[in-house]
Parts: sequence; structure tokens; C-alpha cells
Amino acid sequence: MTDISKHLACTLKGLRQQKGWSLDRASTETGVSKAMLGQIERGESSPTVATLWKIATGFNSSFSGLLTTPEEPLDAPVFRSGTDPQAALPRDSLQVVPLFPFEARFGFELFELSLPPHTEHLSDAHEAGVVEHVMVISGAMALLLDGEWRAVPESGAVRFAADRPHGYRNEGDVAVRFYNLIHYPAGHG
Ligand code: MN
Repeated sequence: MTDISKHLACTLKGLRQQKGWSLDRASTETGVSKAMLGQIERGESSPTVATLWKIATGFNSSFSGLLTTPEEPLDAPVFRSGTDPQAALPRDSLQVVPLFPFEARFGFELFELSLPPHTEHLSDAHEAGVVEHVMVISGAMALLLDGEWRAVPESGAVRFAADRPHGYRNEGDVAVRFYNLIHYPAGHG
């Protein structure tokens, strides 16, 4: 079992206990099959990024909270690399590197993401109060907001309330690289 699957197995079981949800209920809330949830809890599956997002959203958890339990001291700077293989997740259409995982004291998580040419990633609504800040480094990115795809130019940025369905699309022939800073409402665990 890899470190990520081990951590994921514990975290998912913990989240489900915390909520008092059966596997049936967890499946309904996340849109992920009971069989898949069971496999993840037994550490038998390396779920895709899309599946992990569904689980995080269904449980009102941060995405990075599923993967890590960071405790970074503040008395020294923390350096991270977007290409750090340690931080990379299993290969999927969307590549996600948690640069700064969620910490309750800060209330946000920051990712570097890479979306392959002509692919898209759709997201269900996050809990009320979640705000995303998307900053495009390079590539032809479009964002789905209120049912409409809107272009975000290179070096452009957009902030939006993420308590509604949204999506990210690469309309070009090279990877879109972007940052996403997701801010959670006060009191988010
Ligand atoms: Mn999202």
C-alpha cells in the first residue's frame, strides 16, 4: 500500500465515522460507488483525481485534507515545487500538486494544476462560502461559471463563489497550467 492510499484509507474511514454515515449514505453524498469507497477504505484502490474531488466535495472536506496532515512550523520558510514527485497524485487527466495543503489556521489550500490539451474537469458545488481563486500561468483556459464557458487569458486570474457547479477546460493544443487557491469559510475543519 502506498503512503497516499494508506492515508486516504484512514481519512475516509475517519470522515465517515465523524459524520456517522454508512457506506450507502457516503455513496449517495459523494456520487462515488459503494464498491469504490470500500476499496479505498481497504487501501485497495488508487482513485483518480476526479473521484477524490467527488469525495472531498461530498464530505465538505478540503481536497488536500484527504491526502496529508500538514503541521508546518512558521519559524522557517516552507519551500515547495510544483513538480515535486512526492506531492504528485496518481496520473489522471487533471494533475494536481498540493503546494500548501489545507490548514485550519489559514483557511485555504493552494494547488498547482495541469490540464492536458482539449480536456475538461467538472466540479460539483462545494459547501456554501467556498471561494476559488484561479490564476492561469499558461495555456488556453476556459472556466464554466453559471452555465457559461468563459476564457481566462494567460496571466489572468478569476475569483468565484464555488458553491455552484463549475468546470475547467483546456481549449488549446498545449497543457494549461494554473494555480487554484481555495478558501474555506471560518470554522472549516
Ligand atoms: Mn472546485
